[in-house]
Amino acid sequence: MTTQVQSPAPALTDWIPSKQYIAGQWRDGSSEKTLSDKSPFDGTELMSIRQASREDLDEAYTAAAKAQLQWAAQTPAARRAVLERAAEIFDERRDEIIAWLAAESGSTVIKANIEVDSARAITKESATFPHRVSGRILQSDVPGKESRVYRGPLGVVGVISPWNFPLHLSQRSVAPALALGNAVVLKPASDTPVTGGLMIARIFEEAGLPAGVLSVVVGAGSEIGDAFVEHPVPSFISFTGSTPVGKNLGALASSGPTLKHVALELGGNSPFVVLADADVDQAVKAAIMGKFLHQGQICMAVNRIIVEDAVYDEFVEKFVAHAKTLKSGDPTDPQTTVGPIINAKQLEGLQRKIELAQEQGARLVVEGETNGQVLSPYVFADVTKDMELFQEEIFGPIAGIIRAADAEDALALANASDLGLASSVFTSDLDRGVLFARRIKAGMTHVNDIPVQDEAHVAFGGEKNSGLGRFNGEWAIEEFTTDHTVTLQREPRQYPF
Ligand code: NAD
Repeated sequence: MTTQVQSPAPALTDWIPSKQYIAGQWRDGSSEKTLSDKSPFDGTELMSIRQASREDLDEAYTAAAKAQLQWAAQTPAARRAVLERAAEIFDERRDEIIAWLAAESGSTVIKANIEVDSARAITKESATFPHRVSGRILQSDVPGKESRVYRGPLGVVGVISPWNFPLHLSQRSVAPALALGNAVVLKPASDTPVTGGLMIARIFEEAGLPAGVLSVVVGAGSEIGDAFVEHPVPSFISFTGSTPVGKNLGALASSGPTLKHVALELGGNSPFVVLADADVDQAVKAAIMGKFLHQGQICMAVNRIIVEDAVYDEFVEKFVAHAKTLKSGDPTDPQTTVGPIINAKQLEGLQRKIELAQEQGARLVVEGETNGQVLSPYVFADVTKDMELFQEEIFGPIAGIIRAADAEDALALANASDLGLASSVFTSDLDRGVLFARRIKAGMTHVNDIPVQDEAHVAFGGEKNSGLGRFNGEWAIEEFTTDHTVTLQREPRQYPF
């Protein structure tokens, strides 16, 4: 990910209609309910949208099933061209996209730039997929037989995405799915209907994607959530969000009338281990970035900072000093590193976590404050295994530092979680770092770098309750296609009866 810090975001434009995008039409939803899309920083209403009903959802899925057959029949070059054009639109519209990310998701300028770069990168990577997907021809012990395994699209893919990296986390399912000949119905989170959904519809519409191949339904989970997963049309549900919701949807995808493939990218509780031989100054800088980027609202964010006893006091002192320098506030100010929390409910949950940490005996070493929906950094030292800050995904600018007796204790602490998404270890001995990394039960471990990393060609995903499946590169090609075995018998076969 490259990071360009730009000047303050420009004003929003009328690029995105306040409508649903269903079967190639921008139109109102037919639910009774209206969604008010508000800025988490100052509460300004950005858009008001009539929500989608079950009938709207059904129309989107029906159109997708029809459009998918023609889309899959297009040449790889034709599908590639749409993806390439979409990537160009990311460049041409970069300022507008960044303005929307700041306004709707409270992204700082740094985070918004990282997010656009990531979404663009997966679009470019996906543009290569139509020519990279391939089948196999296998040997047979049956005389005259040839077995071929064709690899092709799954059909219609239902994508559900969260609000924290809305553009990228929607696009990392939508772009590969489309490139590989699937049609998609996307349901963004209610806090980010534009950046998680309608903006993507607009980009692909402008890029020339045929009508119906992608629909975006903005609706309440309570009204269309179950129907989105249980509908008979989609054969694959790609969900990114919290572990409890993901587990429920996974169960629904197998208990409904039609069995579906699922990819579940769920919560994290990233350990960030600092061994005694680490460069402490560099580890502190990394921990600060990995903890406070996007106010800590990232699945891969540093969640448990585990420091070996020999460097613990030095680390805490330096981490506290650095945390106190961070500027909190207006996300459009390029100096801001900690912007607003996405909504009042999340903020209340974080305030409860701060109270409980104090009740449970964690040592408060940086006391932040609440200003509107902005929560400035809190740091707790001497966090232990029994405390909520250790056990739960925090998803906010609250850091917890844990003392480990030695490297083995640090490893045991790192693995003492039912989640296993991202993780980090800092050491001056790279080989030792790799050996340590391989003993962490997680989908991703980074030696001497932050756990917040996502490159479009590198496998991304979690173990344990952090999910099922992998994104990016060849892993996405596998995830968004399926095998079809076709055998052919060249000479009459002799049967025993
Ligand atoms: P969430 O689970 O509350 O919501 C995610 C999406 O699911 C939203 O679009 C929401 O509207 C939808 N949803 C909720 N209930 C539903 C239902 N019953 N039926 C259908 N859809 C439903 O998560 P969130 O609060 O939006 O996001 C934060 C969580 O996501 C954190 O736990 C974070 O770790 C996780 N996350 C994981 C990854 C990853 O790649 N593993 C990436 C980002 C976020």
